[in-house]
Amino acid sequence: METILAKPDENSLKLAGQLLRAGELVAIPTETVYGLASNALDGKAVEKIFKAKGRPMDNPLIVHISDISQVYDLVREFPEKARKLAETFWPGAITIIMPCSDKVPKEVTAGLDTVAIRFPSHTVAQQIINSAGIPLSAPSANLSGSPSPTSALHVYNDLQGKIPLIIDGGESEVGVESTVISVAGDIPTLLRPGGITVEQIENVIGKIHIDKGVVEQIDSHTVVASPGMKYKHYSPKADIIIVKCDGDEYIDYINALKNREHIGALCYDEDREKLCVPYVSLGKKKDYLMQAHHLFNALRQLDEMNLHTVYARCPKKEGVGLAVYNRLIRSAGFEVIEID
Ligand code: AMP
Ligand code: MG
Repeated sequence: METILAKPDENSLKLAGQLLRAGELVAIPTETVYGLASNALDGKAVEKIFKAKGRPMDNPLIVHISDISQVYDLVREFPEKARKLAETFWPGAITIIMPCSDKVPKEVTAGLDTVAIRFPSHTVAQQIINSAGIPLSAPSANLSGSPSPTSALHVYNDLQGKIPLIIDGGESEVGVESTVISVAGDIPTLLRPGGITVEQIENVIGKIHIDKGVVEQIDSHTVVASPGMKYKHYSPKADIIIVKCDGDEYIDYINALKNREHIGALCYDEDREKLCVPYVSLGKKKDYLMQAHHLFNALRQLDEMNLHTVYARCPKKEGVGLAVYNRLIRSAGFEVIEID
């Protein structure tokens, strides 16, 4: 199959809508990462996403809408707290899990009785949903297991020949996937940190529970609230090892390694001049938004540097830093070295 890479204009947006209505896949830009979209109400179309990505079928998808009113068709109940979150943060980088209606195919929910819904703020994403005239189920548009795509080129590199159309809406601004919160149970629970922080959410609906899987490793036999948590994720070719320390011990540790061949660093801007190995920087030490914006591109850049081990700075677990930590710890397969 030939893959068309197109800028958003009247023709390409119309084509995107036609393909989606016909049950085909289209990669779309969003403010979080690029999504691989299909008609969320057509189980056969949804199945194609799992095939193109190589995604395990038990990992459910997020349904993308372009107006809050579209929620009612998709849910059995629109809980008060969900409504407050939607009114405050949509359109934006937060996905809300609610009890699902029988209109949502099991391919989307992976057989759960809940559905994850998001209203993205990227105008091109909204235009594509409107052009299709249907809600779109979309996971990140990468091959399963590789870093999520934050540019159309990342998508092209992973999925060329497997999908008919990629709409290039520029670099994703947030750079990590949406915050996922479930309000389907008694206590609202954070399942994945993202661009909207715990503090922002608690300001609107009060105290929330943070699922253990956000910062800890879940073994593959445990039943988890969000199936995506248990899979290996965001893995570049090199092994990533996180080095946990506050100051320059990170630099000293790397520079003191006896054999520095094929060793690299995923560091902060402040470290660059002091390191004597090749590096990619995530941005300034305290600038969590910038670190999130750069993370996945940095992992893909490291792939091109012929490295076998990369020592990474350990992101702080505060604000959007929690989202960076959650992704990086997975790309490191939870391998952390602590230095005092
Ligand atoms: P992705 O689309 O690749 O960003 O992943 C979507 C994330 O949302 C995965 O971690 C899924 O496990 C999670 N998710 C989607 N729908 C549900 C649901 N109904 N219940 C719990 N988690 C969900
Ligand atoms: Mg993904």
